Amino acid sequence: MAQCNKCGGNIKTIPAGVSKKTGRPYNEFSVCEVCSTPHKENGGNKSSEALQIINDNILALHKKIDKLLPKE
Ligand SMILES: [Zn+2]
Repeated sequence: MAQCNKCGGNIKTIPAGVSKKTGRPYNEFSVCEVCSTPHKENGGNKSSEALQIINDNILALHKKIDKLLPKE
């Protein structure tokens, strides 16, 4: 069971559904039972996973560019 990285409380998963307040559909998400902090599960979100891969690639690219540039 996942735990909150702020307070150590249990993380509960809210299944996807439609908001009663706004009437808008929402994706499944995880939130702390105690302090209600949103929790990101590892590999749970494919779009953020893809974003992370892109970020890693950009970081690697920057390191390569740094090596190519003459140092002052
Ligand atoms: Zn918490």
